[in-house]
Amino acid sequence: MTQANSSLLVVGSVAVDWVITPTAERKESVGGSATFFSMAASYFGSVRLVGIVGTDFPKQAVEDLRSRGVDMAGLEVVPDGLTFRWKGRYHANMNDRDTLETQLNVFETFDPKLPDAYRSSDLLFLANIQPDLQLRVLDQVERPRLVGLDTMNLWIGTARAKLLEVLKRVDVLMINEEEARQLTEEPNLVKAAAMIAELGPKSVVIKRGEYGAMLFHDGQIFAAPALPLANVIDPTGAGDSFAGGFMGYLGRVGEMTGEHLRSAMIYGSVLASYCVEGFSYDNIAALDHAKIDARYDAFSRLTQFERATLG
Ligand code: AMP
Repeated sequence: MTQANSSLLVVGSVAVDWVITPTAERKESVGGSATFFSMAASYFGSVRLVGIVGTDFPKQAVEDLRSRGVDMAGLEVVPDGLTFRWKGRYHANMNDRDTLETQLNVFETFDPKLPDAYRSSDLLFLANIQPDLQLRVLDQVERPRLVGLDTMNLWIGTARAKLLEVLKRVDVLMINEEEARQLTEEPNLVKAAAMIAELGPKSVVIKRGEYGAMLFHDGQIFAAPALPLANVIDPTGAGDSFAGGFMGYLGRVGEMTGEHLRSAMIYGSVLASYCVEGFSYDNIAALDHAKIDARYDAFSRLTQFERATLG
C-alpha cells in the first residue's frame, strides 16, 4: 500500500450506550459514531475527532482513543454535562434492532468548533449526528478532497430539508438499506442509489447488515459480502467501523479510483466484522495489521470463483 498520510477528520457522536442482545447486556458501553469510526480508521493513518461529552464519559475511553493515535483536541468536555446516551435492543437475528431511548444531553447545545489545525483536513467524515451540526462543520473546513456522510432514519424523518442541504456537499453517502428506501421512497435499491446520486453524492454505499454492502459508483455496482460469523456479540458500531475502514484506507492511498473504492469496501467490511465480535470497541481496539490482512484475505477467498466450462 502506498502511503499518502492524509489527515482525516471525523465529527459525530461520542456516547454511552446501553446495549441489550438476546444473550447479553452491557450498560455503560462506550459508543458513538465518531468513537467507532476513529478506532477503525486509526489503523490506516492519523485521525482527528470532533465531538462533545459530559464529565460522566469514561476517562479510560479517551485514553484508549489517544493510545490508538487519535487526536482528541476536538473533544469538548462540558463541566457538569451529561454525555449523549442511546439504548437499543437487538432482535434474535442480531441484524435488526429497536432504539429504546435516545438522550441528546450535551448535543442539545453543541456548536462544533474546529481547532484551526483541523480546517485544512484532507478528508472529512460527517458521522451520524444532526444534519444541522454537519452543515456547521462543512462551513468550517477549507477544501477536503473527500467528504463522506452517514445519517439515520431519525434525521431523514425529522430533518429532511437540512439533510438534503448536506447531501449536496458530500462525495460519498453511506446509508443502511432501509434508510436509502426511506430517503428516496423507492423500494428498489438500484433505483434508490441512482436517485441519491442525483441529490449530490457521486458514490453511494448501501449497507445491508449481515448481507454486506453495495457500492454504486460511476455507473457500476460492486457488492461486498459480510463475513459469515459464528459469534456475533454486539453489532453496535458496525456501520461506523465500516466507514472508518473505508475512509481510513482512502486517506492512506490518497486516491479515489474505482479500484481503490472497491478495496475500501473490503477494508470497511473487515473492520465491521471485527467490531461485531465484541461489545463496544473492545475488539477493534485490539487489532493489528496482520489480523486486518488475514481477514481481508478471508473476504477475498469467500468471493473468489472461476467460470466453469460446460464442456
Ligand atoms: P451503528 O451501529 O454503526 O449504526 O452505530 C451505533 C452508534 O450510533 C451507537 O454507539 C450510538 O451511540 C450512536 N447513535 C445512536 N443514535 C444516534 C443519534 N441519533 N445520533 C448520533 N449517534 C447515534
